[in-house]
Amino acid sequence: MSSEESPLGFLVRAIAFAAEKHRHQRRKDAAASPYINHPIALANVLANEGGVFDPVVLCAAILHDTIEDTQTTAEELEGMFGSEVTAVVLEVTDDKNLDSHLRKRLQIEHAPHRSPQAKLVKLADKICNLRDLLSAPPKDWGAERKLDYFDWAAQVVAGVRGTHAGLEAIFDGLLAREGELGQARDWAARYYEH
Ligand code: ZN
Repeated sequence: MSSEESPLGFLVRAIAFAAEKHRHQRRKDAAASPYINHPIALANVLANEGGVFDPVVLCAAILHDTIEDTQTTAEELEGMFGSEVTAVVLEVTDDKNLDSHLRKRLQIEHAPHRSPQAKLVKLADKICNLRDLLSAPPKDWGAERKLDYFDWAAQVVAGVRGTHAGLEAIFDGLLAREGELGQARDWAARYYEH
């Protein structure tokens, strides 16, 4: 953010940039929602549920999947949004050259060592993903896979605890609803027995 730019202008610029980059992508839910809904949901959780108004954190939330899931480069982000935001985005970007099991393990291992800004983005990301799994899950995910995701997300969030009590409580509230996925599993088991 340059000295003459307002934090709101900076944030809106990030939203416009991310919307452009993700414009052809869809979520995996049955309705195939626009991908940009996800980064906007993170920023909404941070600002309006967590009271986080640091423009670096909000912009990093908006941009958090641009390097991982679009053609965006770190250099491009740095030129547009500066080194601070870019550093946070890079902290929450998985190395797609690694297989998904290793990437998931590294998220657990790296979480405690991330900056406070990156930990906030991680926390909001996992809150949004658990909400999506409870209300609008990927259409081809069975209960087992959703339960695995809940367990993994809990391990990642264990590494960021102590960052924001309010958001951690929101995450825990969602985690406690894991039983709703279990019911789905029982229902599915019964369904396939008959
Ligand atoms: Zn995400």
